[in-house]
Amino acid sequence: MVTKRILVTGGAGFLGSHLCQRLLNDGHDVLCVDNYFTGSKQNIAHLFNHPRFELMRHDVTFPLYVEVDEIYNLACPASPIHYQHDPVQTTKTSVHGAINMLGLAKRVGAKIFQASTSEVYGDPTEHPQTESYRGHVNPIGPRACYDEGKRCAETLFFDYHRQHKLRIKVVRIFNTYGPHMHPQDGRVVSNFIMQALRGEEITLYGDGSQTRAFCYVDDLIEGFIRLMGSPDNVTGPVNIGNPVEITVRDLAERVIKLTKSRSKLVFKPLPPDDPRQRCPDISLAKKLLNWEPRIDLEVGLAKTIDYFKTRQ
Ligand code: NAD
Ligand code: UDP
Repeated sequence: MVTKRILVTGGAGFLGSHLCQRLLNDGHDVLCVDNYFTGSKQNIAHLFNHPRFELMRHDVTFPLYVEVDEIYNLACPASPIHYQHDPVQTTKTSVHGAINMLGLAKRVGAKIFQASTSEVYGDPTEHPQTESYRGHVNPIGPRACYDEGKRCAETLFFDYHRQHKLRIKVVRIFNTYGPHMHPQDGRVVSNFIMQALRGEEITLYGDGSQTRAFCYVDDLIEGFIRLMGSPDNVTGPVNIGNPVEITVRDLAERVIKLTKSRSKLVFKPLPPDDPRQRCPDISLAKKLLNWEPRIDLEVGLAKTIDYFKTRQ
């Protein structure tokens, strides 16, 4: 195997920290770049003494000059409360961040990977979502800074590919969970587990009948590696997620059972533009990458609960 120099932006975040670990395990040199907006050094503290790991504090909305062979562009807050905290900065991170990282890839001839999202489908009118579905996004709503930022980043990736012949890989990530999620990021899995462990009320938004499909982080990272290693004509976008769809209420009940919690369910208003249903069609990932998730929700939730017990 050839050792590559690999840049991971957003490497101190939830997914980035797992990706850095996996790339080091695979024998590569890893440069982790992060501005610590939502990530933390704690997520990567176990890598500090690794001889092939390097860490740089940097904001991707500014240009970056480094020499690398591959780039994984993950920098962007991902939870609704974090990306809505400073929506202008969220759009800048997606759009200016993509321009800067694509410019870097062009200068050094690197292959570049974009962490896009199922949010490009918005509140979908097709179900489950295939990559050919063009989406149903409100361009002026509170989620737009993230959804439209990510859509524009995809546009930039494909224009650099067509115009400058860049080698690109675009993944559309569906809801993912696991250790290193931020305990206060407001996402449903972290909220429910923290509430259950503390014996607090479990907050269901709306009536809890909206659906999501949850992928364990190790499965997702395997999908990333396979997509990056695929032939150059495989550009994506490719959906990566777990196609087992459940209601948010069902998730709450499973978390209560696994934590043996006495927490009760309470109902809160549904946030604006909250998608009613979401589930990936992963036929393309199966066909192109021979990838599908292997970790059952109950197994993944148990591992995640063990992690959150250390973060209380
Ligand atoms: P996260 O918030 O844990 O990680 C994002 C990282 O990016 C953090 O470490 C943060 O500090 C860093 N960051 C933010 N703005 C930056 C900037 N301007 N410059 C440098 N670093 C910056 O989120 P995550 O769940 O690990 O998500 C990683 C990527 O995957 C994001 O691009 C997100 O949009 C995408 N994604 C995640 C999910 C999911 O379910 N976790 C779903 C869809 C898409
Ligand atoms: N949700 C909930 N209670 C919470 C947090 C979230 O009912 O405490 C719901 C939210 O309204 C959404 C789903 O869970 O329908 C997933 O929310 P999350 O923020 O994790 O991700 P999204 O898929 O909406 O980006």
